[in-house]
Amino acid sequence: MKNYADIIVDISHSKLDKVFQYRVPDELTNEITVGTVVNIPFGKGNKNINGYVVGFTDKPNFDIDKIKDIISIDAINVSIEAHLIKLAVWMKERYACTIISALRTLIPISKKVNDKTQKEIVRNVNVRELESYIKIWDDKNFKALSRAGKYLINNERCRQNTIIRKANITTSVLTNLEKKGIITVNLEHIYREPYKVDEFKRTINKMPNEEQQKAIDVISDNLDNDSHVFLVHGITGSGKTEVYMQIIKKVIEKGQQAIVLIPEIALTPQTVRNFISRFGNKVGVMHSKLSTGEKYDGWRRARDGDISIMIGPRSAVFTPFRNLGIIIIDEEHEMSYKSEISPKYHAREVAIKRGEMTGATVVLGSATPSLETYYLARKGKYTLLELKHKAAATKKLNVEIVDMREELSNGNKSIFSDTLRNEIQNKLFKKEQIILFLNRRGYSRFVSCRQCGYVVKCKNCDIPYTYHAYDDKLICHYCGSAINMVDKCPSCNSKYIKQFGIGTEKVETYVKKEFPCSRVLRMDLDTTSKKNSYDSILGKFRNGDADILIGTQMVAKGHDFPNVTLVGVLAADLSLYMSDFRASERTFQLLTQVTGRAGRSILEGTAIIQSYTPDHYSITTSKDQDYKSFYEAEIKYRQVMNYPPFSNLLVLLIQSTNEKELIKRSFELKNDICLVSPRLGLEVIGPSPANISKIKNNYRRVILLRGNKYEELMQFINRYMIRLSNKYNDISIHIDINPLMSY
Ligand code: ADP
Ligand code: ZN
Ligand code: ZN
Repeated sequence: MKNYADIIVDISHSKLDKVFQYRVPDELTNEITVGTVVNIPFGKGNKNINGYVVGFTDKPNFDIDKIKDIISIDAINVSIEAHLIKLAVWMKERYACTIISALRTLIPISKKVNDKTQKEIVRNVNVRELESYIKIWDDKNFKALSRAGKYLINNERCRQNTIIRKANITTSVLTNLEKKGIITVNLEHIYREPYKVDEFKRTINKMPNEEQQKAIDVISDNLDNDSHVFLVHGITGSGKTEVYMQIIKKVIEKGQQAIVLIPEIALTPQTVRNFISRFGNKVGVMHSKLSTGEKYDGWRRARDGDISIMIGPRSAVFTPFRNLGIIIIDEEHEMSYKSEISPKYHAREVAIKRGEMTGATVVLGSATPSLETYYLARKGKYTLLELKHKAAATKKLNVEIVDMREELSNGNKSIFSDTLRNEIQNKLFKKEQIILFLNRRGYSRFVSCRQCGYVVKCKNCDIPYTYHAYDDKLICHYCGSAINMVDKCPSCNSKYIKQFGIGTEKVETYVKKEFPCSRVLRMDLDTTSKKNSYDSILGKFRNGDADILIGTQMVAKGHDFPNVTLVGVLAADLSLYMSDFRASERTFQLLTQVTGRAGRSILEGTAIIQSYTPDHYSITTSKDQDYKSFYEAEIKYRQVMNYPPFSNLLVLLIQSTNEKELIKRSFELKNDICLVSPRLGLEVIGPSPANISKIKNNYRRVILLRGNKYEELMQFINRYMIRLSNKYNDISIHIDINPLMSY
């Protein structure tokens, strides 16, 4: 019975983070469901606010006289499956957020958008009658009338806009025809569609190869069983998309729906195109660039069963399908699957949880799976399916690793090795295109020796020290320990030991100096800050308006440039020695991805990787895209150093405008935490300066908590965080559990 409704009020406040009971008036009983947004009186002044209905009871939980009535159903009226409410409750616990912020993430619609309408013209008379009318018309604009009449002879129904355009008439002609009783004008409610589906050429299933067929069969066989997670580990070009599409076809045939998550729409337009071409108007697309109306309609179409597939970034994991059969996460290792704003959820974790709740199958796909995922697949928690071969014939890709230490000892101090310089010249001569890649990601200021490749690292954490110029010190951003800057290499005594770093702008200058006749484009945060600049740079390059494209990881994503036959990685070490325990993993992923850019052509491609530590496993294994060897080496390091997946990390980011106070308070906070941490089995590391130790006048420090179990960290948050935040309310404290980037 729906006598009383459990309601979450739409106000962000930790004290209001609980369920409130309201009486459901009789006249609303039939309309209110879980997820409905209602207007309720709240607080002493009975202010009219919004609330989300999350459940019903037939008996009141406290004094009947104190329970107020729901006023009305809000105009937005979103009603969703009960399991999505349960998912919000789970998010609150898992990510230590308030239930209202989980609900707002899950139901992203905060105000009603008016339906879009269009006028439809319907002919009321038969063709013969219309023909005879046309003959006898003598209105002053009879020419326009007969043009419209002729159009209507061939089209019994059409859109108003179409007839206006095709018959070259004005709306007054239609009004005239309506008056004469020849047509009726209807108002049609339509959905806003961001893509013109009709304009896509339709495709049909490709004949799967043996590996693809096996993956399709194994996953399809599970669709009727309980939820299960599959990892499709397939090399670049192995045809993972085809596998996803054939499985989804079966899901739809069973009357169920599919969610396909991709890292970022702008970076993967090909995937969207593939799906629309295969499934036409069954596909909905979600992304941040859509208008509010388009988002609202996409969301409603999914809820009302008007589409069966939703493609989108991480937030599409909440698509309100009512009979969800499968969730696919392509490029599951990508960092964009973790939200950087609260609730800091990971879409992979949410997808697996939603699968458990609904019985939906979950498929993770990648050429370079995250260590966490592959580890669980190895342990048998996920089922591993491998695609080891290219699906379509391509030319061979030659990958060469160049030792930059040798270049130096041969007297070459340029950023280009002789090999790369020659190859660039060669390609320029042949009028083929070149990508020069600077794999900077995040922030790196490590110190290394150009002579022998030695990198100065913290002994406790095995993480490179970060150079701090203002006091000429090397600081570990994990534990906070510091040493004086070195002036000689501790390993070979050379004086060529210094901070490592180069930017895309510098590279552009060098390129223009060494290859004055080449046409160069640069793509980085500076050149892509304007809307559409990203597409315009890539468009120019694809058109052949430039010979060389210089860029950061932005150029590494899934673009096809058929004329690119050379990729040069200028300094693989840039991502390898950033102060993050995932540095090797990121480097392997980036190198695999970017060298793949040269292997998409009918022409033979070459990739050249320059490095001062060419023997590092993440570089040697990327030469043959040998994920397994990379994994074996990396997982040992994680185990020895007790980094994830063997442990879980909680970051406390502490900020203040007063640096002295911040340092003092962060040490006090650490001491307070240390009073309780042993009881919970937690290790406390820091405080240390954050990677970016000052943003907008805010100084930033980090305390790291490490627990073997996730629950240990949650216990800490639930039992102590509120108290600590109150005691330290003079500094701001942000928490992030298992962040994908070091702070
Ligand atoms: P991945 O996503 O695994 O990197 P793609 O899905 O981009 O690979 O596939 C690479 C290419 O192979 C695409 O052009 C795709 O159309 C083609 N392809 C996929 N499967 C087949 C198949 N069974 N037969 C022929 N071509 C295929
Ligand atoms: Zn050295
Ligand atoms: Zn350290």
